[in-house]
Amino acid sequence: MIVGHYGIAVDVRLDADGERVSLRVRRDSGHVVGERVEIVPGGLRATAENRGVLRRRDPAGRLRAVAANLDLLGIVVAPRPETPLGFVDRACVGALAAGIEPVLIVNKSDQPGADTIFAAFSASHGEALRILRVSAVDGTGLAELAGLFAPNRRGAFVGTSGVGKSSLANALCPTLALEVGEINEQSGLGRHVTTNATLHALPGGGELVDTPGFRDFGPVEVSALELSQGFIGFRGVVEQACRFRDCRHLKEPGCGVLAALEAGRLHPDRYRVYCTLLEEVEALERGGRSGYSG
Ligand code: GDP
Ligand code: ZN
Repeated sequence: MIVGHYGIAVDVRLDADGERVSLRVRRDSGHVVGERVEIVPGGLRATAENRGVLRRRDPAGRLRAVAANLDLLGIVVAPRPETPLGFVDRACVGALAAGIEPVLIVNKSDQPGADTIFAAFSASHGEALRILRVSAVDGTGLAELAGLFAPNRRGAFVGTSGVGKSSLANALCPTLALEVGEINEQSGLGRHVTTNATLHALPGGGELVDTPGFRDFGPVEVSALELSQGFIGFRGVVEQACRFRDCRHLKEPGCGVLAALEAGRLHPDRYRVYCTLLEEVEALERGGRSGYSG
């Protein structure tokens, strides 16, 4: 199992005795934290197919896999800083398309404004996913958050910079900061190596993927098809299947989404978010920025 990824090196935990070994890899090796591997002459070989792979774009627009075999994606929001419109929806669609359960985490509930966004998200997303109200500062909801990982689930956090992902990670896993330092040292690669991702056992069970090298990355990657088929705002309100399987729900005949919109079951604001996201994703796809880089 890969438990640490540093761009040009990985830490592998051997199943047999839990011993860790560091290995150099090519920068574009495609290996990710959470992947089950064996060590073979010349490198690593995956021993199982990855599921639950989370993909994000780096600031240069390259697609990167963040971690494999995830069960849970904590989408963190807070009263401040605000989360851009569509970020939560992209993360939900991306998680569901990868077979990962999205959970919305409203952090900084000790701050004014948290009630308002909790209520707003409960109204717009409450039907479709679990929503927790937490505070990394006063401890609200942390037991419930830890409970999502127990006994044996692997999760990661995404969210805009400053919403409290690191604070929550440290609150769940007090040895995290220390551990990250130790792993870096073990790899012997000096401190100019970016830590892409590391895997940490939580005291209450389960594992957290920490992704310091990805903290300021853009939204979770989704394809236009994944979005049109998995937009979470359509859940429970769209009753009729679209005539075309690849319907984009814009003006196609026999569209179930448009029918729900006309019937007043789908809120126009939610539909507008979908249209904005679809435009964004299609523009990215047209721009040919889909080159994969591990
Ligand atoms: P990240 O960029 O998402 O990893 O966010 P950080 O964990 O670095 O937190 C950003 C800032 O928000 C820091 O100043 C934290 O102390 C603060 N912060 C994090 N969680 C909470 C919280 O629950 N309540 C309050 N009031 N502040 C928080
Ligand atoms: Zn449609």
